[in-house]
Amino acid sequence: MKPNCLICTHTQEEYPLDEIRWQSDSGHLLDIRFYPQFDKRAIRQRSANLWRYREALPLSSNKFVTFGEGATPLQKINIYGRNIYFKLDFLFPTGSYKDRGSAVMVSKIKELGIEKVVQDSSGNAGASVAAYCAKAGIDCDIFVPKGISASKLAQIKAYGANVIVIDGSREDTAQAAYEAAKRSYYASHYWNPFFLQGTKTFAYEVCEQLGWKAPDTLILPAGNGTLLLGAYIGFKELVKATIIEKRPKIIGIQAANCSPLYEAFNEGLTYIPDVETLPTLAEGIAIAKPVRGKQMMQYVELSEGSFLVVSEEEIKDAFYEISRMGYFVEPTSAAVVAGVKKYVAEAPENEIIVSVLTGSGLKASDKIAKLLF
Ligand SMILES: *Cc1c(COP(=O)(O)O)cnc(C)c1O
Repeated sequence: MKPNCLICTHTQEEYPLDEIRWQSDSGHLLDIRFYPQFDKRAIRQRSANLWRYREALPLSSNKFVTFGEGATPLQKINIYGRNIYFKLDFLFPTGSYKDRGSAVMVSKIKELGIEKVVQDSSGNAGASVAAYCAKAGIDCDIFVPKGISASKLAQIKAYGANVIVIDGSREDTAQAAYEAAKRSYYASHYWNPFFLQGTKTFAYEVCEQLGWKAPDTLILPAGNGTLLLGAYIGFKELVKATIIEKRPKIIGIQAANCSPLYEAFNEGLTYIPDVETLPTLAEGIAIAKPVRGKQMMQYVELSEGSFLVVSEEEIKDAFYEISRMGYFVEPTSAAVVAGVKKYVAEAPENEIIVSVLTGSGLKASDKIAKLLF
């Protein structure tokens, strides 16, 4: 076995797993080489949270930074007469699935002895990292673009993070954080490879909840891809561990108003082109230049999947429908529901389909009140 390490996605240069770094010397993204272990018997005997898969996580100790998160319900919801499994990830401590990534990433940061971090976000990732840093006693600067939802800003501030509001776009905010991170440590949900080591637990949980079986298809949001990439990594590891035979196909959902991946993928490009974007209700996936975009397209392709887009009308309709069934989620999550509807309309009969409700509507009730009623 080759040693565990951080690997540059561009030059394949390797660095020790416990080196304090979030990008390679050549300035590129890092991935992680790590050999996860799954002992089903041990897993079954542990508490219902994501730490039950601890031997599959690249941490050196059991001193986790945790609120007891994970093991969210996998519920069947009827869409066009078909039962679709939805993972209720809006039930995480800070109200979004981002806590999967933050729990593992901040545990690693604590383990490495890092005392101050930088992060940027349009809301949920910032709130999540701020909460875990509060729990761990780590100082954090969260960069946010002007105009983010008041309730998300309040949540970030409440956890005691230093908030830096950037008078510019989401991309300007990311650039400002990137510069600041050069003098600090970047606890970025898309740059930091340990974040994806947390979101991969989505795959483990789905697999265990289906009786250690893989679904045929996963329908996931595609913004920065932190859930999509993590889910791919997790299912790939489960195949390697011979727990399942085949990875699910991954369908990535984008808003038609901001759909760089959909466009690039369908044009057969291997890079993310400049695309024109319009505002969308699905603010959580409104990412014009996803930093891991190339990787997202590769993984979707390897899974034999594709990208779908949904219109603002479809997002609104899906929001009303899913709310009327008792699930109060963010408009971004409704975009994924709209994607499920689109996919199911043409899906093969017997496919087992898993999707996700990513964020709580309580986080965006101010926007929901203004925009939808
Ligand atoms: C972050 C987020 C998404 C999109 O996830 P990506 O990792 O950017 O693809 C979807 N829904 C909610 C509620 C989110 O917070």
